[in-house]
Amino acid sequence: MPIAPPPSLKSAWMKAIKNLADHPPTQDFLFWLGGISFKDEKENTISFTIKNNFIYKTIINKGYDKLIQKKLEELINISVICQWIVLDGEEEKRSKEEDTPKITEEIKSDTSFKNTPNLKIETIASGKTTISKITSINPTLNNKYTFENFIVGDNNRFAYNTAISITNRPGEEQNPCLIYGPVGLGKTHLMQSIGQALYQKNTKYKVVYLTAETFLNEFQEALKTQEQYKFKNKYRYVDVLLIDDIHDLQNKEATQEELFHTFEALYNSGKQMIFTCDKPPKELKNFTERLKSRFERGVVVSISQPSWETRFEIIKQNYKNYQTLVPAYLSDSVLRFIAKNINSNIRVLESALKTLANYNYSMNKEITPELAHTLLEDFIDKKKKKNRKDISLETILEVVSFYYEIEEENITSPSRSSDVIMARKIFIYLARHMTNYSTPQIGIFLERHHTSVLNAEKSIKKEIKNDNILAEQIKELINKVQEKSL
Ligand code: ADP
Ligand code: MG
Repeated sequence: MPIAPPPSLKSAWMKAIKNLADHPPTQDFLFWLGGISFKDEKENTISFTIKNNFIYKTIINKGYDKLIQKKLEELINISVICQWIVLDGEEEKRSKEEDTPKITEEIKSDTSFKNTPNLKIETIASGKTTISKITSINPTLNNKYTFENFIVGDNNRFAYNTAISITNRPGEEQNPCLIYGPVGLGKTHLMQSIGQALYQKNTKYKVVYLTAETFLNEFQEALKTQEQYKFKNKYRYVDVLLIDDIHDLQNKEATQEELFHTFEALYNSGKQMIFTCDKPPKELKNFTERLKSRFERGVVVSISQPSWETRFEIIKQNYKNYQTLVPAYLSDSVLRFIAKNINSNIRVLESALKTLANYNYSMNKEITPELAHTLLEDFIDKKKKKNRKDISLETILEVVSFYYEIEEENITSPSRSSDVIMARKIFIYLARHMTNYSTPQIGIFLERHHTSVLNAEKSIKKEIKNDNILAEQIKELINKVQEKSL
């Protein structure tokens, strides 16, 4: 069904200014409002320029951006996306010097997407030849996640090349793109880099990033408040849609259905979509076939564990960035030690680096590989030691309950229904396998005799041996518990 174009956002903005003037906190709000100017609009996105970063930060911190968005939505009754473009100091100076602060903008970046990414955008001030740089900020993207900061290795080269090619030809043969792989290996980083590059090429491009969990929550909220119409429009007007961690929609049938329709609307109008997932789409459980097949319609790429050499490159870059904040010193051999000894995921690598750099800085003591070994003992021996004592029964219960959609209270209740019994057995298996809790301790947690815990453990172990699907589910649950316990 075609979607009717929304009413003019500019006129809504004019009305909003008047309306908001009568709305507390008037004085303060009006003061900051002075730093915002309407720039342009396209469908349900309205862009504003903000005089400088300080005003931008204040507006965000005080929540005025949300207030403005809410007001606009109230006035035109559809979901609105606000884009904030921050002008730098040059522009601010210029607008003080002359009384015609309006700028006519000429975006220098190529809008036909035939060239390689051009990350700089310039505007030319009217009347004068002053050129001022604009820092474009897409509120849904993290500035840290760019191609420039992404280290390419054998583990991600294909995914990276695909990503670059999407920025040159969005919405074409590589649409949609699905990036899959284990946690902490750069899926979000790469996905957002594509978004950043497209957005920086043309800030009129509506690039929206969100997690599948946000999609789910917003959809459920819309159902509750009967505002499905608003929700439907929100993501069907974008040019590039990035949805992270779609595995979180397993078992969420109604949300999958909604995503399917969003997908169809965007796909049919040639809009680029990118998804990430912790597994290949085929392996998604409790997922409608038609949505799974849509994910595979364009290109599917994976990111795997990086080699130690790639880890070394990543850690070197991280160290350089860290040094701009804290003047810590770590030798190359210490960085190599980290890269060689920590092979779980990049996030862990980053915290190991921070641990050593912090120690060096605050204790003023040189880090040798031997000291690094002592300080990183927990990281290195993670799976065997730290995880066991850091994983709580509550976390396991929460993960099992979410995964099988069975209330936590049911798992710990005396219920004898078969799915509850199964979930309970799996909980017991994970608790025994991943923690140091004894069967009597787990028995107390479940209000059961320890022999029942023992029997359940024996029985589930047998079942896992004979049932590949169950074994896969257990692996997945172990990963989820580990991720939640980091
Ligand atoms: P995922 O989404 O796969 O769980 P993230 O994208 O959140 O992983 O990556 C985790 C951390 O590791 C982030 O800080 C990210 O910047 C960093 N990282 C991952 N891969 C790379 C890479 N190839 N180059 C530089 N940093 C990386
Ligand atoms: Mg991620």
